[in-house]
Amino acid sequence: MRICLDAGHGGKDSGACGAYSKEKNIALKAVKYLGELLTEIGFEVIYTRTTDTYVNLLDRAKLANANAVDLFVSVHCNGAANSEANGTETLCYERCKAGECIQSALISETGLRNRGLKIRKDLAVLNSTRMTAVLIELAFISNKTEEALLNNDSWIIRCAKAIADGICRCYGIPYIGEEAEMVTETTMNIGGSNKIVRRILKDGENYVRLRDLESIINIGYDATTKKVSISAK
Ligand SMILES: [Zn+2]
Repeated sequence: MRICLDAGHGGKDSGACGAYSKEKNIALKAVKYLGELLTEIGFEVIYTRTTDTYVNLLDRAKLANANAVDLFVSVHCNGAANSEANGTETLCYERCKAGECIQSALISETGLRNRGLKIRKDLAVLNSTRMTAVLIELAFISNKTEEALLNNDSWIIRCAKAIADGICRCYGIPYIGEEAEMVTETTMNIGGSNKIVRRILKDGENYVRLRDLESIINIGYDATTKKVSISAK
């Protein structure tokens, strides 16, 4: 299966600008992480750009058409005059499973406001591509809190993993990316104290390994009363 990854904007077109960062650079970074993950999983990946260059919108669609890709994924950041605007949305020419899977995987990973899957007939990369095409607006660069997230590499990696996971789920492909690649950290409050454990994202669900849990909690079993007791270490 062949996927065309499209980092929005580039070169003379910065896209939306935040207080200190530009959409074109964040989109490129996200696309590179996503491409690595998808390649690792076994997809064939082509890019509309891999450097800070300007590529005409129609040329992006033409490249995807000429290479007969199965899915076109454009990555962007949103921008609005209202600095309060926030959340994640996915745009598509018509409702599609890929869009739904990607949007839901992103929301469950980032917890940002779900702006939903939106139909847009006016965007060149959506209306001139002959395959399923989606355009992801990760978050608002014009929103102070979200600009900070967009400039946090580990957050971008989490988004890339969520998008890859969404694509896998859409096509019924098991997510077989390196387990180490999907590991982040989470804080668990046990008996009033905070413990950091590894958190594993798999199939859109979060897991904590039993042996990691055993390192932060005591699990006891009383054979007489048949009761399991759990306490902080
Ligand atoms: Zn954009």
